[in-house]
Amino acid sequence: MREIAARVRAVRERLARAALRAGRRPEEVKLIAVTKNVPVEAIREAVDAGIAAVGENRVQEAQPKVAALGRDVEWHFIGHLQTNKVKYLAAWASYIHSLDRLRLAQELEKQGARAGRKWRVLVQVNLTGEESKYGLAPEQLRPFLEKIGDSAWLEVVGLMTIAPFTADPEETRPVFRQLRELAEALRREGWPQTMLEHLSMGMSNDFEVAVEEGATMIRVGTAIFGPRGR
Ligand SMILES: *Cc1c(COP(=O)(O)O)cnc(C)c1O
Repeated sequence: MREIAARVRAVRERLARAALRAGRRPEEVKLIAVTKNVPVEAIREAVDAGIAAVGENRVQEAQPKVAALGRDVEWHFIGHLQTNKVKYLAAWASYIHSLDRLRLAQELEKQGARAGRKWRVLVQVNLTGEESKYGLAPEQLRPFLEKIGDSAWLEVVGLMTIAPFTADPEETRPVFRQLRELAEALRREGWPQTMLEHLSMGMSNDFEVAVEEGATMIRVGTAIFGPRGR
């Protein structure tokens, strides 16, 4: 179990070096430990090693972990979200990274109003057109943002993407760069800065490249907890 603390340290060092290479401050990047298939004891180890943000991608799996670990850690929901699960998230999810359709925005709005709680969300963008991945195509993004623009209970804070897995992380660089450039283009067009504050991109295999390209949130599972086994 010691291993987890050592891995957290190693990931932080790699994150810091990548940030410095890009002329950024390491503190600008939030390290989210992805805990799918990871037991509570292991998450606790990571938290003891300084992890402050945890990412879950299944609502049912997250509930008992939230109950055990409480609100000392910041909980991020990063997986595909079914509308009928939204109501269970209100009590604990600080951020939702996977807003990808109008129907989900409407349900978040409804449940936000019910709970009296504003959601912080990132809009998921699919930059590669892979059928297997969720997310809006870049050209769908502006009309989508316009449609959800006057939601009272939704606060868009950024964009998220999942890059295709490649053996060579350099190959994912263009995907991360595209997400950054998309955010930059929106800013130039006058979309509020606050809506584009975050770029959630980069996983175990490619987070350094993502940090170099401007990630403010990286989602790292395997590099902290070891291989998941399926
Ligand atoms: C599992 C998962 C990750 C973490 O993947 P690793 O390769 O284990 O770091 C990040 N983002 C999402 C959306 C995931 O489902």
